Order: sequence, then C-alpha cells, then structure tokens
Amino acid sequence: MSEINIDVMTLFPEICQSTMHLGVVGRAIKGKIIDLKFYQIRDFSQSKHKKVDDSPFGGGNGMVMMAEPIFRAFEHICSVRSTRPRLIFMSPKGRVLTQKIAKNMLENKNIAFLCGRYEAVDERLIEEIVDDQISIGDYVLTGGELPAMVMIDAMVRMIKGVLASDKCFEEESFYNGMLEHPQYTRPRVWRDRNVPEVLLSGNHKEIKKWKLEQNLKSTLKLRPDLKQDSLRAKIF
Ligand code: SAM
Repeated sequence: MSEINIDVMTLFPEICQSTMHLGVVGRAIKGKIIDLKFYQIRDFSQSKHKKVDDSPFGGGNGMVMMAEPIFRAFEHICSVRSTRPRLIFMSPKGRVLTQKIAKNMLENKNIAFLCGRYEAVDERLIEEIVDDQISIGDYVLTGGELPAMVMIDAMVRMIKGVLASDKCFEEESFYNGMLEHPQYTRPRVWRDRNVPEVLLSGNHKEIKKWKLEQNLKSTLKLRPDLKQDSLRAKIF
C-alpha cells in the first residue's frame, strides 16, 4: 500500500501526467510510495455535451466552473479511496505555499487537489467541500494544474524514502528558515575562479562552520525577510 494517496481533479489531466511521471516524483510513483491519480472533471458532468462551466450570475468576464461536476468527481474519489481526502483548492486567493505548509500537509494520508480554470469556481462548491486554499504566489496563472504540481513536488520529496536521505531536504533552503550555502564541483579552478579553500581542507568541523556562515550570509543578502528568529537560533 502507498504511503500517501493523492488525487487531482482537473480539466487538463494531460498537463499533469506529463510532468509527474518523470524524475523524483516519477520514481516515488513507481516505487509505490505515492499513489497519484488524475480525474477529468468533464467525465462527471451530467449534461449531454459534458458542460462544466457557465456564465457568471451578475455579469462579468469569463466563465465560472459549475459546482456539480466537481462535487461528483470528489464524491467518486471519496468512494475509490473509502475515505474523505483533505481537499486543497489551488487558488491565487489562498495562503501562499511555503516549505512548512508542504511538510505539514504530509500529516494527511489522503489528499485531493482541485485545479481551477476560467475566471472562477462557483463559491458554493468551495464552501461545501474545500478544506484549504493554497496559492503558489501573488500572480495569476491560467489554471491550477501547474500550482498543484508545484505543491505535490514540494511535498513528495519530503516523504521518507523518496530522496536518498532526509538530510537532502533538511539541509536545503527554507527547511530551517535559511537559504542553502553555495555549492561547488570539479574542476577545482574554473575560468580562474577557485573553490573556497576550506571545502578542500578535509576539516569537517571547519567545513560545517563555513556552511553555516554561508547559510546566514546568503539569507541576509538574498532574503532578509526570512524569519529573523530562526537565524538567531542558528547563531546561538
Ligand atoms: N479570477 C481569479 C482571481 O482573480 O482570483 C483567477 C482565476 S485563474 C485565471 C484560474 C485558476 O488558476 C484558479 O481558479 C486557480 O485554480 C489557478 N491559479 C491561478 N493562479 C494561481 C496561483 N497563483 N496559485 C494557485 N492557483 C492559481
């Protein structure tokens, strides 16, 4: 049995499938660490022409996704999983995704995503079944598919066994409120640029100290807005 079940409701399953079956997430699927399924919302429309949207009451631009096809798709997912997954609606109006939100989401064994399209989703559907709304940043995209894939990717790489070791993500940017230190590989000199001497010294204590200093330096230089508390906790 998979560690986490993830279901995605979308009008464009093709967009999702092509990105999710490659690389680290693809390996997690093959290794049955996650069970990732995509559902075409249109398949749950009861209308003759598989209609899923209509014009907004009160007028306005664009179309609104109708509540019933999405509701029926979610009911189907609940019955396939024999449980009610936590339902996340990807929306520019949601709270902005962070490493911490992605990590905490893994406390749920069953998670479903709703990807919006067009101008909006009928608000009554959101009130009725959505548990959380997440945005990937303060800008508007054409659909929720890329945001859902971003969030799934961020979550999946923090599931035990997906990366070689938990250290891979624990020592990365954001996990402890700081940015990662710079990294170097062969050759030792590239176009007259040297690798910092300490990294070639073999002195693990000094290397650890250098990395921490660089974490702080990068954070203060590039993202001074990151929580000052976690920076202080690292220093003292
Ligand atoms: N009219 C909406 C508004 O002003 O808030 C934007 C709708 S957008 C064109 C269509 C869909 O794309 C949304 O329902 C949502 O699912 C997705 N989307 C767009 N930008 C997003 C973002 N920054 N984060 C998460 N989802 C986003």
